Amino acid sequence: MKIGVLAVQGDFAEHLALLRKLGVDGQEVRLPEHLKGMDGLIIPGGESTTLGRLMSIYHLREPIEQMARQGKSIWGTCAGMIMMAHEITEEDPVPLQLMDIGVHRNAFGRQVDSFEQDLEIAGFDHVPFHGIFIRSPVINRVGRDVKVLAALSEDQPVAVRQGCMLATAFHPELTNDTRFHRLFLDLVSKESRPSA
Ligand code: GLN
Repeated sequence: MKIGVLAVQGDFAEHLALLRKLGVDGQEVRLPEHLKGMDGLIIPGGESTTLGRLMSIYHLREPIEQMARQGKSIWGTCAGMIMMAHEITEEDPVPLQLMDIGVHRNAFGRQVDSFEQDLEIAGFDHVPFHGIFIRSPVINRVGRDVKVLAALSEDQPVAVRQGCMLATAFHPELTNDTRFHRLFLDLVSKESRPSA
């Protein structure tokens, strides 16, 4: 299974390390040609305005959108989740619109409002997942086909899935807990074997 990790900005190295723990050699994606042959893509956390700008400069938007059209799995964490959104509360960045969600950037304020909280995740057998939130966005609109996997409160979803697309407001890659990465690999392998 070939997994790309967008490596233009942000904490891609941590995602690659967790994938390695699961026996998957992730591919750093900086240019469109690095996406060739990838079965799935992770868009990491960082700064979404910078991420959006660099994606445009390196002509990565169209090939990522094409991957999505081909039914390949894409997972955005934090700034990556902002890029997955259909619409966001600010003008910048222009999101990729890969999921039917609305996102509010910096929903808890700036750096000072980073926090950690244990989360109950749908499908994770009631063993809480340690959520690390850093200048975190929150989802403020969830489309009909979107499944909420975790929320801080009823109107604050922080992990969602829509088909083979995944978005988390927090940073599983900054923990040693591989469950979200395993969930993503699961979505990827289901997509690459449609009959499974
Ligand atoms: N607040 C950042 C943004 O708007 C995201 C922070 C993160 O990815 N940890 O892009």
